[in-house]
Amino acid sequence: MIEIEVKAKGTYLKEHYPFEDVPKLSDKKLCIHCDKVFTVKDFKVFKDETGFEYICCPNALECDGTVIDWFSVDEEEKF
Ligand SMILES: [Zn+2]
Repeated sequence: MIEIEVKAKGTYLKEHYPFEDVPKLSDKKLCIHCDKVFTVKDFKVFKDETGFEYICCPNALECDGTVIDWFSVDEEEKF
């Protein structure tokens, strides 16, 4: 897996986000792999040997969570 530098993260997310509700870059998400809350704009992108691009947890490579492991966070909740 090679990390890709994405400059236009908002556009990237709109084009590659696998689900319908594309989050805002300022949204907070919980990664259930590392159990940490992060800001969406900090996501990383990795490409595998086949050229498939994965939207990953900001804590990659320590964390192997990808976009499918992100859960919405209620801003009012304290973690
Ligand atoms: Zn994670």
